[in-house]
Amino acid sequence: MGSAGKSDTYDGKGKRLYIVTYGCQMNDRDSEALAGLFLDRGYEMTEIVESADVILINTCSVRDHAENRAISFAGSLKEIARHKDTRHTSHEERTTPIKPIIGLIGCMARNRGEDIFQKMPHIDLIVGPAHLDKIPDFVDEIRNPKHEIRKRIIQIEDEERSEALYHPLFRVEPGHAQIVISTGCSNWCSYCVVPHVRGPLRLRTPQDIIEEVKRNVDAGIKKVTLLGQNVNDYEYTSHVTGHTTHVVNFVDLLKEIDKIDGVEELSFITNNPKNTSKELFEVMAHSPKIVKHLHMPFQSGSNRILELMNRGYTREKYLQLAEEYKKITGGTLGTDVIVGFPNEAEKDFLQTEDLMRRVRFKCAFIFKYSPRPGTKAAGMPDDVTEVEKKRRHAVLLEMQKKISKENYTG
Ligand code: SF4
Repeated sequence: MGSAGKSDTYDGKGKRLYIVTYGCQMNDRDSEALAGLFLDRGYEMTEIVESADVILINTCSVRDHAENRAISFAGSLKEIARHKDTRHTSHEERTTPIKPIIGLIGCMARNRGEDIFQKMPHIDLIVGPAHLDKIPDFVDEIRNPKHEIRKRIIQIEDEERSEALYHPLFRVEPGHAQIVISTGCSNWCSYCVVPHVRGPLRLRTPQDIIEEVKRNVDAGIKKVTLLGQNVNDYEYTSHVTGHTTHVVNFVDLLKEIDKIDGVEELSFITNNPKNTSKELFEVMAHSPKIVKHLHMPFQSGSNRILELMNRGYTREKYLQLAEEYKKITGGTLGTDVIVGFPNEAEKDFLQTEDLMRRVRFKCAFIFKYSPRPGTKAAGMPDDVTEVEKKRRHAVLLEMQKKISKENYTG
């Protein structure tokens, strides 16, 4: 980890950064990458929010629970902001502002940023997922004592990310590199907010991905996890000469990374069943490095509900894939399930229960449906009562506990 910083930036030496992250593995990786950028400027990490000079809240919009927690935490920082806001009390404090810089970043910045900017004046910085690499510069700009009035910054446009975000080598789990291969998603599952807040599918080049893996391996990393909202969507087309094109799909990419000396354990997440292939299972089976576990969310066991969800596969296809996967790799499966989706009748739920009973997942993340503003499903009647959602959730949870105990313990 370097500590130089650029000559036109403030030295972060002695300054402390606190980051709280809500949501998925992709968000964890974004926070880690961002922390790396600050550490490279001389900052230190702190776990004590009151002692931080910069506080960042990396938000998630996938479920309302995560949004509510982030908003509540952001609100609770008002006190810290007020007590330390001494900028206008003396010349010394004007030139050395001590109020922490507070930023709300990630998905919620993108879909609710303008509203939060208006309603929470103690938040200095609102930055969407496309601009995370610029946050250290924004912090410098806010800290710049030449501004008589403390500046506030909002940057939430959706665009391609800069590769600069992926340059630092800082890793939260020593020896384990999570590598983003794509951002956004263009699948438009009807309940999902990701295409709205993270934008359309955008691919990093195979060269950039492979170089990042090699940089990490050179730094002693042995374990690599590739991240994408749906890794199977990876299909990078490059134009070799005039009319000749070269396509690298996810299986090709996986094979290339598998060949890198020094990578000893390789995994990836997530695989949408609609374009998960037998070829992938074969590559997994033949590589001693690839972990034999596949996270393949089925979401519902009812074809009628899968169609309303716009998932692009049937229960029959899912069951067939699960069987082929187990036969070819001998591995385990994980999944995500939603109960109480609009229109989900008891007979639909029973099919979900049946699918879980047949596949016997090693792990299952079971969620009660809640509408996300702006999605297609939010326009459908949320007609399964909260009591019924809770019941269905409890039934599946109990079943999964039993399956895990019978099949995967001891
Ligand atoms: S595949 Fe569907 S559920 Fe997954 S991120 Fe894309 S739109 Fe959302």
